[in-house]
Amino acid sequence: MLTTANRFDSKTILDGIRRWVEIETPTEAPNQINKLATLVAGCYRDLPVAIERIPGHSGCGDHLVARSAWGQDKPGILVLSHLDTVHPIGFIERLPFRIEGDSAFGPGIYDMKGGAYLAYHAFAQLCATPARPPLGVTQLYVSDEEIGSPTSRALIEAEGRKAKYVLVTEPARDGGKIVTGRKGVARFEVFIKGVPAHAGTKPEDGRSAIRELANVIQALDAMNDRKRGVSVNVGVVKGGTRPNVIITLSLLLTAFSSYIREGGRPVVQDPGR
Ligand SMILES: [Zn+2]
Repeated sequence: MLTTANRFDSKTILDGIRRWVEIETPTEAPNQINKLATLVAGCYRDLPVAIERIPGHSGCGDHLVARSAWGQDKPGILVLSHLDTVHPIGFIERLPFRIEGDSAFGPGIYDMKGGAYLAYHAFAQLCATPARPPLGVTQLYVSDEEIGSPTSRALIEAEGRKAKYVLVTEPARDGGKIVTGRKGVARFEVFIKGVPAHAGTKPEDGRSAIRELANVIQALDAMNDRKRGVSVNVGVVKGGTRPNVIITLSLLLTAFSSYIREGGRPVVQDPGR
């Protein structure tokens, strides 16, 4: 029951979300992620939690785990969030934090700083009362979800296996619907090797990797199957040297397949977009 001492008021919550949103955190800017991780860790300073900070590597930022001082001797509730966003540094100049009517805007506020902050705030309010729920709460903040969780996957799986319930603070879908399962993701890098030749004088000696790439993209695109929940996206294409040279190139593609689950529980935290 809400009382006057309860701080579930929108201004307090929005002020907190704003602080998290205003530190821009594209996955590929680990220093920025770490700055936010420091802010998030600081939010727990006076709460009954043990904070663990796992240093980032492979170009990714740190991960943060906050474990409640109670209930850690048995499976509890894991609340899973990511601190990174897809928005590049400087995007906030185009999309500054602002409130319009009953909506708030800012880079990554929807996916998922709003949800992550709300979960933190709820936990903090829980701690402000003397009552302790029967289950422990562990909040995990990872730094690399938007690129497929390469450095956090093992941590997510380990914490997920220990938990009785896992809640992910990704946003709701249309109409506020809750998401109960998400797609799994796989990434592939495809290299296509051509045979270099001068495109004007000796085209017959060359084999165009670019022409083959066009074929490969068409084939990959044909694998999309919305009904089966399969989406394939060619996201990055690199290669070529000069307009008149036939050459090697590569492409990076992402395939989302339906609902990878382990032990009945989705173990892959997926961009799902
Ligand atoms: Zn997300």
